[in-house]
Amino acid sequence: MPEPPLILRVAVPSPLRRVFDYLPPKKCQITDWPVGIRLRVPFGRTRMIGVLVGVATQSDIPRDRLKAVIEVLDHEPLLPKDILALLEWSSGYYHHPLGEVIETALPVALRQGRPAEIRGESTWGLTGTGRQGDVATLQHAPRQAGLIQALREAAAGLKAEQLDRTFQAWRPAMSRLVEKGWVELVQAPCLGREEAARESPPRLNADQAAAVTAVTETLGSYQAFVLDGITGSGKTEVYLALAEQVLAGGGQVLVLVPEIGLAPQIVARFQQRFALPIAVLHSGLSDQERLCAWLMARSGEAPIVIGTRSAVFTPLLTPGLIIVDEEHDPSFKQQEGFRYSARDIAVIRARNHRIPIVLGTATPSLESTYNIQQARYRQLRLTRRAGSAQLPRISLLDVRGQTLHGGLSAPLLKAMEAHLVRGEQVLLFLNRRGYAPTLLCHECGWVADCKRCDAHLILHRRRQRLCCHHCGAERPVERQCPACGSADLVSVGQGTERVESVLRERFPSIGIARVDRDTTRRKGSLQNLLDGIQDGTSQLLIGTQMLAKGHHFPNVTLVGILEAEQGLYSSDFRAGERMAQLIMQVAGRAGRAEQPGQVLVQTHHPDHPLLWSLIQGDYPGIAGALLEERRQAELPPCSAMALLRAEAAQEVPAMHFLEQVRDEALALKIRGAQILGPVPAPMERRAGRYRVQLLMQAGKRQALHRLLDQLLPLIEKLPSARKVRWSLDVDPVDTY
Ligand code: ADP
Ligand code: ZN
Ligand code: ZN
Repeated sequence: MPEPPLILRVAVPSPLRRVFDYLPPKKCQITDWPVGIRLRVPFGRTRMIGVLVGVATQSDIPRDRLKAVIEVLDHEPLLPKDILALLEWSSGYYHHPLGEVIETALPVALRQGRPAEIRGESTWGLTGTGRQGDVATLQHAPRQAGLIQALREAAAGLKAEQLDRTFQAWRPAMSRLVEKGWVELVQAPCLGREEAARESPPRLNADQAAAVTAVTETLGSYQAFVLDGITGSGKTEVYLALAEQVLAGGGQVLVLVPEIGLAPQIVARFQQRFALPIAVLHSGLSDQERLCAWLMARSGEAPIVIGTRSAVFTPLLTPGLIIVDEEHDPSFKQQEGFRYSARDIAVIRARNHRIPIVLGTATPSLESTYNIQQARYRQLRLTRRAGSAQLPRISLLDVRGQTLHGGLSAPLLKAMEAHLVRGEQVLLFLNRRGYAPTLLCHECGWVADCKRCDAHLILHRRRQRLCCHHCGAERPVERQCPACGSADLVSVGQGTERVESVLRERFPSIGIARVDRDTTRRKGSLQNLLDGIQDGTSQLLIGTQMLAKGHHFPNVTLVGILEAEQGLYSSDFRAGERMAQLIMQVAGRAGRAEQPGQVLVQTHHPDHPLLWSLIQGDYPGIAGALLEERRQAELPPCSAMALLRAEAAQEVPAMHFLEQVRDEALALKIRGAQILGPVPAPMERRAGRYRVQLLMQAGKRQALHRLLDQLLPLIEKLPSARKVRWSLDVDPVDTY
């Protein structure tokens, strides 16, 4: 009896929530089909690159309708089993098609089918000492002696691949030899590395030492920690001390940062401390660089791996520790396509590997605060600023009824002047989320709106254009009010640009750096601005969220916060949390060195309890109160939430689709799951399309997943689904 044909199950990057069956290529000699290899397959009228995720002997599709694989792109699995398992888990949790999830995890070069190899591979070779040294001194380290022997016989040095063939677990021994100066690694071109570590570690203070001990004790097992310490309290030093231990044991360290802008800083700290290759993974790299870094992480040649969101999926040979810096940052959540949280997946990954994970932050997310309360995560606190720096003093400036100059009150301007005269730096922070200058008619109150969105247009003075920040529409600034004909059009609200122009007039001799999305669009421009701030060329810094994140400005002694209360009246349930985090983060920029800092918060609501807690610096108090509100309102993290968004050119089809989804969902009668809506999205129109949403919530996460598991196949069959664009967001970070 002939053997049944082998069926290859392939995950293809397609929006369909299933894998596809193929036959092996015709006249194929391959008998062994490891999962994790790439295959080029026919798909509809095109060809696609998919990843083999399983083999079977049967398919639901009749055999004569199955197509054959066109080409086998890898002979060894590109994705190791642990990563494939993590991707499958993520696909299930976020209810997103596996093929697209896998695509997210692959560097672009590999998605395009390029070979998984790098030009200029790493090679280990002997140093002078290595060539002449007495091998007898290595008699207690037989592995090291063996490696030296092998290297002495290989004039051109040895590559990882060659070493793998002869030696098992040779990497720790090789690292020892590198440390001793017998061996050097001629590394791949993509890896950053200093010649020698230039910096020796400081003596850790008691809090830091306790944190390091607590994590060290769990090495080799899973535990999640929240390293909760104000800015400047020495969290990065704790990461470095932990990394040292893990690296010494031959483990790799994966560090995730929320934004590409924060990567160089943390990379530099690791470089100064360790003379080891570092693989850096973020969107600012060329495809080739990214591929190289990814492969170096996978092979273990880069013991330290630092990256943004998607780096959470980087394969590692010997994972030892995961660090997530600024864990509260919403940038860890992808907001389109595969809407995953890199922080949450990092926790799952640590659990799978049985290694510890450290979530560092000055302002723990309510999710982490909740997990600490539930004893799922352990809290480690750093209560003092490292070195001599003191905490800044925060006070409120009541601006009700005051004349403002470019949004700045007289007391704030006076304080700024005092600090500037002393040669110190001043930072002004604007919360730009949902906020910017618009054109207003002083006669009748008309406001310039976008014709395609429910949004005010934003005035860009320099270019004299009105722009929509949601859909990108632009038009010239009106001279006359379209409603009443008055020429008295004024701009209301302060954008960073407006504040900058007011301050240039006021302080003509002071260097000003404005840091926002517009001034940092070009590659390298953020770094230029930051350099100017570090060397003192810029004394006055104006910025948005970007400036609030993790940068060190030791000479900033005054921070002014304009329009603090944006977050108090937003429709989004996380707005209060975000506002508190932002203000604490910005305040943390001040007075890091010897000078104590001062923080002035302008507000129209000086009596608001949230602001009161903030000026006492009581973030834990605020987090506790906000969490209690969430508990009472049964909102995340005290419940599980998923948002189904739909949009269409007209409102009716979008609404109709979600009404059908709601009916299907209700008919499933899942206990403990609530279906709310459909309702128009807080921003009802965007880029000319109507947006509606259906909220699904459950006290227990399992109930929500049971609902989604059963609901999604039904949604895919709905004819009304073809008339709209829809997406599912599990654990949404905002509800816009
Ligand atoms: P964070 O990451 O919490 O903002 P860092 O680790 O960057 O804090 O530390 C802030 C500053 O204090 C850095 O310049 C760092 O070198 C210094 N520092 C940290 N820990 C110590 C210590 N134990 N002794 C002396 N200086 C320290
Ligand atoms: Zn008017
Ligand atoms: Zn618009």
